Amino acid sequence: MKLGIRGKLFLISVVLIVIAGLSWGLYVEGELRVRLEQRIETELVRHVRTARETIQATDKLDSIPAINQLATRLARAMDCRITVIAAGGRVLGDSDLTTPQVVAVDNHGNRPEVVAALAQGQGRSRRYSTTLGVEMLYVAVPYRADGEHDIGPPDGKPGIVRAARPLAEVDRAVARLRVLLWLAGIFGLVVAIAMSALASHFFSRTLRELARSARAISSGGYERRPRINVATSDEIGRLAGSLNRMSEDIEATVAALAAERSRFEAVLEGMNEAVIAIDSDFRITLTNSTAQELLELDHVPVGEPLIEHLRVPAIHDLLAEPGASATSEFELPGKVPRRVMSRVSPESDSGGCIVVLHDVTSIRRLETVRRDFVANVSHELRTPVSVIRANAETLLDGGIDDPVHSKRLLDALLRNAERLSRLLDDLLDLARIEAGRYDMERGEVLLARAAEQAIESVERTAREKRIELQCEIDDSLRVQADEKALDQILVNYLDNAVKYTPEGGAVSVSARADRDRVIIEIADNGPGIPPHLRERIFERFYRVDPGRSRNMGGTGLGLSIVKHLAEAMGGDAGVRAREPHGSRFWLSLARAEKQSGSRPSRS
Ligand code: ADP
Repeated sequence: MKLGIRGKLFLISVVLIVIAGLSWGLYVEGELRVRLEQRIETELVRHVRTARETIQATDKLDSIPAINQLATRLARAMDCRITVIAAGGRVLGDSDLTTPQVVAVDNHGNRPEVVAALAQGQGRSRRYSTTLGVEMLYVAVPYRADGEHDIGPPDGKPGIVRAARPLAEVDRAVARLRVLLWLAGIFGLVVAIAMSALASHFFSRTLRELARSARAISSGGYERRPRINVATSDEIGRLAGSLNRMSEDIEATVAALAAERSRFEAVLEGMNEAVIAIDSDFRITLTNSTAQELLELDHVPVGEPLIEHLRVPAIHDLLAEPGASATSEFELPGKVPRRVMSRVSPESDSGGCIVVLHDVTSIRRLETVRRDFVANVSHELRTPVSVIRANAETLLDGGIDDPVHSKRLLDALLRNAERLSRLLDDLLDLARIEAGRYDMERGEVLLARAAEQAIESVERTAREKRIELQCEIDDSLRVQADEKALDQILVNYLDNAVKYTPEGGAVSVSARADRDRVIIEIADNGPGIPPHLRERIFERFYRVDPGRSRNMGGTGLGLSIVKHLAEAMGGDAGVRAREPHGSRFWLSLARAEKQSGSRPSRS
């Protein structure tokens, strides 16, 4: 049987109580016996001395019956047995025997108390009386019989008077005490058992509470728990205090670790770079959401081999070189191919690595755009500048004297100077917008009126090309915009639409409110823009057909300016296809106030 701490404590207390009770009982019993015997002995000494005095003072003790009678009288008065023994051991009288019995009784000369009395003047003995068949205590003293003690000790030889008392009364007293002791013992045992049961219950309850808390701590239940309440200041109280402090410390440490971890997670999640931690077996142990986006994963790939998700030899070459950090740039295949710069750093403790992937697609594209821009600017400037220079030289070399020829040269000179000026204007506009120095004042602008103004500036060209111009904009539709910038955008869109739409085509301007935005669309039925170039035409100098654009006086910067202006006003610009052919250039701006549904204002 397996005993709990409560059972063990209870058992130990019971055993201790029983041992203590028994020891105490035995000690008390022994002590009582000794004390009682001492008292009896003291009494017997007193009695035997009185008896001696009486015998010595009594005359005519000349026969056994007389002596026996005196012994009987003395014994009755003293409540003890009195024996008178002559020198040599012959019994002369005994209060417990009749005269014939006295005569017949054996010699008492060798009784220990008699021998001791003769030798030392007083003797005692505790032994079993063969005469009476009981345990007795004897005390004997010598006496001197003078005068008429005829059968007393002859010629001054001492006789012995002996007092005795059975020890049965001691046994009775001890037996009574034993009963009392048993009763007290049983009562005490019951009380002690109850007390110890109670104590072990409380003690084991406290211990159980401690064990429960320790289990909670070891199983990681560090959430706010009530303290262990132990009122005592003993070892258990101190243990409970230590456990409370320990659990507080653990709680604080866990909270600090949790805060640290959430900070770490926030940093990890806030990073633009993809972070992938791998173990020494190249299995993923941690990723951030940027990594999942970059690797086009719809789940957290923890535990999976890196090679399943990053099949790029360059990375695995880096991983194959243990120890040092290394970087490389590569093309990451996927639905949208990306240019990625990677850095692999070893993790010192675990033998794993941290792979950081930085998506540099847009940086690289921007670099290309910038490179192209410089090349494009030089190229765009070179043509008009060379024409101006060549024509000026020809004129100076005598061409001025040829009126027909000189007019043609001067016309070309003017055209190219205008083109140069347009180019510089556009470049300056772009630079100003990009640097945030474009003087923009955003306010409420009535869209229909802005559109009408813009249409006016392309009306003449449209008429020349027999292009039908339509405008369907609600009179009350207002947008949050800078009037000048909005006009520049609309003119640019309309100018392109009229420019790239063949003769006899149609261009329409419309607007619709979409919640808090207004979408303005300039649609034409021109050649349209191939889908893969719809974003690119908003880049600087990007043209679908560069030769045609230049011939038409285009700088290749118009749509780039549109995009920048739209973004500077908190809007956006783009293009989509128009069915069956043509383009729909759109501009999205913040709506100025709630409007009713649109209705045509002009057609
Ligand atoms: P450009 O001065 O050459 O017109 P833009 O930036 O205004 O420069 O336009 C960029 C290119 O987008 C143009 O060269 C042209 O190829 C194309 N494009 C712009 N608008 C239209 C349109 N309405 N229809 C067809 N192509 C267009």
